[in-house]
Amino acid sequence: MDIIVLNHDATEKDVENIVQKLEKWGLNAHISQGTERTIIGVIGDTSKVSEDEENAIRVTQGVENVLRILKPYKLASREFRKENTVITVRDQIVGGRKIPVMAGPCAVENASVLLDNAEKVKASGASFLRGGAFKPRTSPYSFQGLGEEGLQYLAEAREKTGLPIITELMDIRDLDIIMQYTDIIQIGARNMQNFRLLLEVGAVDKPVLLKRGLSSTIKEWLMSAEYIMSRGNQNVMLCERGIRTFETATRNTLDLSAVPLLKELSHLPVVVDPSHGVGKWNLVGPMAKAALAAGADALIIEVHPNPAEAMSDGEQSLKPDHFDTLMKELKPIAHIMRREM
Ligand code: PEP
Ligand code: MN
Repeated sequence: MDIIVLNHDATEKDVENIVQKLEKWGLNAHISQGTERTIIGVIGDTSKVSEDEENAIRVTQGVENVLRILKPYKLASREFRKENTVITVRDQIVGGRKIPVMAGPCAVENASVLLDNAEKVKASGASFLRGGAFKPRTSPYSFQGLGEEGLQYLAEAREKTGLPIITELMDIRDLDIIMQYTDIIQIGARNMQNFRLLLEVGAVDKPVLLKRGLSSTIKEWLMSAEYIMSRGNQNVMLCERGIRTFETATRNTLDLSAVPLLKELSHLPVVVDPSHGVGKWNLVGPMAKAALAAGADALIIEVHPNPAEAMSDGEQSLKPDHFDTLMKELKPIAHIMRREM
């Protein structure tokens, strides 16, 4: 809250009342009396004014509008940190010149299929192996993931291929076990505003990939990143994975405008998930290319050796040979963007 615009019929008493409120919070008022209306500039550290206090001012007699210049998120903001955040995960880097691709199945299904998948995506140039062991499914009757067994298979695949792994944490109760295995903790779209969970991963020493909520604004998303960072963990990646719109022809609407906007607003690396963004395997490639052109720092893509038999998200999973072709097609786009793949 930095500027308070008063309405035409605000009285001197209204102004005095507002100034008193501000002074109570240790702030001062700069009153500018225009011909049309009065504007109060708020002087001091306005970052300490909570959203509730700001809303209280908003509904105070005589106030027409309250404008905030400082963003409600601080640690995540570009103002706070000018340089891009670069996150090192084992021997891989996210947010640097090279664009890493995280690839693998939606869900870990069994050890041999996962290993085969991991070897293939690695040969195509992937830098991380993805795979869910705890799956957030819409139906309680759908495959829920293998749990710890799935984490073990991921760790085995890492051992054999050298690919660091990323897997989803759905519940605070699974944090310890996930911490024993994973290299990056994925917070899924459905948990983007599970604030207690965010605070927990904010207190651990592992990078977090924070997916955008199904109907979350960019501001809400950055506030969720702020929750994690406020507890000390600064290694947060933002992952655009599509939002709910009126459109039903695709699973979600992949908001690629979020990518350049986030790069302006925040120093955090931006990852794009075209698989969940579109929900159809044949649209994944074009949107992956568009994501790089929009300035994405990394991609996360679902790959399955036999999508028709996949236990989840088969319709949006690329076969390994399609993934291989896509990786080759992405290279020149990365170059145009002065990046490497
Ligand atoms: C996933 O990555 O498989 C997943 C469940 O993603 P989201 O949370 O974006 O739906
Ligand atoms: Mn999935």
